[in-house]
Amino acid sequence: MEHLTNFQSTADMQAADAAHHLHPFTDTTEINDKGARIITAANGVYINDSEGNKMLDAMAGLWCVNIGYGRNELADVAHRQMLELPYYNTFFMTSHPPVIALAEKIADLMPGDLNRVFFAGSGSEANDTNIRLVRHYWASMGKPDKRIIISRKNAYHGSSVGSGSLGGMTGMHAQGGMPIPDITHIDQPYWYAEGGDLSPEEFGLQAARALEAEIERLGIDNVAAFIAEPVQGAGGVIIPPSTYWPEIQRICDENEILLIADEVICAFGRTGNWFGSQTFNIRPDIMTIAKGLSSGYQPIGGSVISERMAKDLDAHGGEFAHGYTYSGHPVASAVALENLRILEEEKIVDTVRDETAPYLTEKWSALADHPLVGEARNIGMMGALELTPDKSARAPFASDEGTVGLICREFCFANGLIMRHVGNKMIISPPLVISKSEIDELAEKAWKCLDLTLAEVNNQGLMEVGTR
Ligand SMILES: *Cc1c(COP(=O)(O)O)cnc(C)c1O
Repeated sequence: MEHLTNFQSTADMQAADAAHHLHPFTDTTEINDKGARIITAANGVYINDSEGNKMLDAMAGLWCVNIGYGRNELADVAHRQMLELPYYNTFFMTSHPPVIALAEKIADLMPGDLNRVFFAGSGSEANDTNIRLVRHYWASMGKPDKRIIISRKNAYHGSSVGSGSLGGMTGMHAQGGMPIPDITHIDQPYWYAEGGDLSPEEFGLQAARALEAEIERLGIDNVAAFIAEPVQGAGGVIIPPSTYWPEIQRICDENEILLIADEVICAFGRTGNWFGSQTFNIRPDIMTIAKGLSSGYQPIGGSVISERMAKDLDAHGGEFAHGYTYSGHPVASAVALENLRILEEEKIVDTVRDETAPYLTEKWSALADHPLVGEARNIGMMGALELTPDKSARAPFASDEGTVGLICREFCFANGLIMRHVGNKMIISPPLVISKSEIDELAEKAWKCLDLTLAEVNNQGLMEVGTR
């Protein structure tokens, strides 16, 4: 295929990138020093860089390329839609065919009574919508004091000021005046690191009951909503104990608060069902979606609200003074619709649930036999390895958090595998279309990189046990 831009040498591109491009979540000094890795093309589950390396992308980009790279159907739909109606807005009483068809399709797929979609350009924007939406909802219902949103430490809900405040990343809060008022954070259900001597089931109940205690502390008349990812993604693929979600659901049902399931990662097949809410039996009032909605081929997200909430807003809400220029963008909507058609018609989610996810579990859990791995967990097509200097104690390393994870990630890059590190956790979220033989390759490469990491960690004297 002919390239869209004339490639310069890698060094020239890196120099121009360093001179003119500010990168998200990147240390500027480091990237300018080492040079960016330049990705030029992709197909299936593989990506190519400007140096001719081919790598298995076990992160599906950023958790989003659910149907895999290189699907011509999505390009064709985008092309046709651009010619027919490249842009029109959905403000001020207007609509257009692709956004109508997409909203109807999403409502059709959604569990429970989730039925109406407010579109955004990303997950961050959708969660910003949610902050205003839940407060506007309670104000419309005559309860303007219900404003506080309870979230969790180490949650990720996006990077705008609103969604970053909902998130529980302390490193993000430290920059730029976050969190904004009226958002609080309770402990996460992270048994491996925080469960101590409790069983996972006991710990799951304890973590859930922190929500009840927080509602009591704040006063039910002041609490609008609780927001959580069914499985924390960016926090390190933290899969809650089986007792956690049923208890959270009970607490939400017994208290007058809205439950927001942030399914930006979990939705559209990631956990082995269409939605994480189905996997964990959650009945949210609002669901945040993005990423897998278009498999990353176009930027689009949304907030899906229950028919009950929608009816209340119809009756009492008046105009919601909120919207994005690109809410329900026609090209993004058409591409998302085509993506959902492919996911459904090719039974990709069914294949994940019945065949490839169980196979991944088998291969991935075998990595727990490696001397450096304290736990190997996965649910559906997402997983994590906990690196440790002492398996039996679930012990952390004495070195700075993330030192060993970073070493491992660099070995992965060098050996044709994209695995991300969160601290000393190695995480994956491959395209849902990954085949069994590609899963074999993933597991083999992961084992090899763990071996290389162990040797290097020993070499640098980093096997010392630390304290949490
Ligand atoms: C990625 C992510 C977001 C933010 O989505 P963007 O499209 O990057 O703004 C929100 N919530 C969760 C759970 C995410 O993983």
